[in-house]
Amino acid sequence: MSDNLYELLASRFPKDRARPCFILSDGSEISYSVLEENAGRVAARLMAEGVEPGDRVALQAEKSAEVIMVYLGVLMAGAVFVPLNAAYTRTEIDYFIGDAEPKVFVTDPPGFVRDAARHAPLKQAVARAKADLASLIYTSGTTGRSKGAMLSHGNLAENARALHAAWGFSEKDVLLHALPVFHVHGLFVALHCSMLSGGPMIWLPKFTDAEVLGGLKRATVMMGVPTFYTRLLANPNFTKASAPNVRLFISGSAPLLPSTFAEFEERSGQRILERYGMSEAVIITTNPLNGDRIAGSVGFPLPGVELRIGGGEGEPSANGVIEIRGPSVFSAYWHMPEKTKEEFTRDGFFITGDVGRKDPDGRVWISGRAKDLIISGGYNVYPKEVELVLDELPGITESAVIGLPHADFGEGVAAVCTGKGVEADIIAEARKQLAAYKAPKRVIFVADLPRNTMGKVQKNVLRQTYADLFKS
Ligand code: AMP
Repeated sequence: MSDNLYELLASRFPKDRARPCFILSDGSEISYSVLEENAGRVAARLMAEGVEPGDRVALQAEKSAEVIMVYLGVLMAGAVFVPLNAAYTRTEIDYFIGDAEPKVFVTDPPGFVRDAARHAPLKQAVARAKADLASLIYTSGTTGRSKGAMLSHGNLAENARALHAAWGFSEKDVLLHALPVFHVHGLFVALHCSMLSGGPMIWLPKFTDAEVLGGLKRATVMMGVPTFYTRLLANPNFTKASAPNVRLFISGSAPLLPSTFAEFEERSGQRILERYGMSEAVIITTNPLNGDRIAGSVGFPLPGVELRIGGGEGEPSANGVIEIRGPSVFSAYWHMPEKTKEEFTRDGFFITGDVGRKDPDGRVWISGRAKDLIISGGYNVYPKEVELVLDELPGITESAVIGLPHADFGEGVAAVCTGKGVEADIIAEARKQLAAYKAPKRVIFVADLPRNTMGKVQKNVLRQTYADLFKS
């Protein structure tokens, strides 16, 4: 067996390949044998079309089981999978295609798989070494150009094994999969955990209340972004009885509000397990399966992951930029040697750009992105610290604290909130709990905070929208 990730996954497919891999929304199933055969045909087709090991194969399409057949076929052929967000526009796609230079660009996975049927399935995956490239994942890039994180077969295999163990996956598990598959969360984290168990996935094209509530009747594990959990809580039909077999609810890709964690526990009796990851390293830390899952903390580094706080402000447990080194950390940004050099320390730690702290026992807390740090009148303001105070005030559902250009202070602190309240009262209350320079100078209410598909609040959008707030 080589280090081709496909070989690891296939070695864990169930002995009885007739067992389901995908359970679709209409109740129909796709077996592991169909998956395996089609992946083999896709690989054969790609090779017949001249795709060689290391060549890129890009894909932009809506979620379907065929996307996964193409993904596995690309791995088998030793090529490099480049998934692209289905929402990208033509101009954005031009950039990605120009950058990744794929040999093949798949836009209709069902059609691609169908046409591959005339090729005899490849039986043996092309041998790959651990360091060989398996996938290029373009970062969501809220500033500057999106970068292609180069993930190797070894990076993905090591992370998959670590998560499978950390979260106690077994062949008895049924994973509810409602995540998109152009992002590491749905494509690698969820898919690989399930495939290493040889179990089925309840495969939903996207999150809808009705389908998720239906799927939860049978699922044992659900992975989601925080908005999945807030949507479930907003639905009165979601009760303890809705998820009779679920042993684990996992959340990540964006911070889970402590209030969501608490409300979810009250409603379902389950403590959501929060973990932290990114395109450049897949999963980095996780709360424990057995042990204390603490709201607001992302838990402990996975085995083999070294995590340290760089540029901390001196005191133990001070906030600083999180740096990581370990088996799942990517090697470089595609075609960006300078950028790569800037974002790794001399001793090989990746500078994540997330600000956080670590308790003496190793537990990690995230307080935001370094670029979201506000410097007001020369003082550092960590938005998370302010958000935690605001989120506790009556009437406020969620807040996003940003720095906006301010003539006196350089940046002024502003809060954009959902829920309701009176601006002057909120500012007065915040000033009781926070130093004056940290308290917001303006509070704005909106119906919804802008989010990307992974549920992350787009602070760059807010900063643009309210750029002139302190200018009037
Ligand atoms: P992406 O590369 O799109 O997966 O985005 C990665 C970023 O998402 C990280 O650098 C964090 O800023 C954020 N993130 C992921 N998981 C969490 C979490 N559990 N809590 C807070 N931020 C998170």
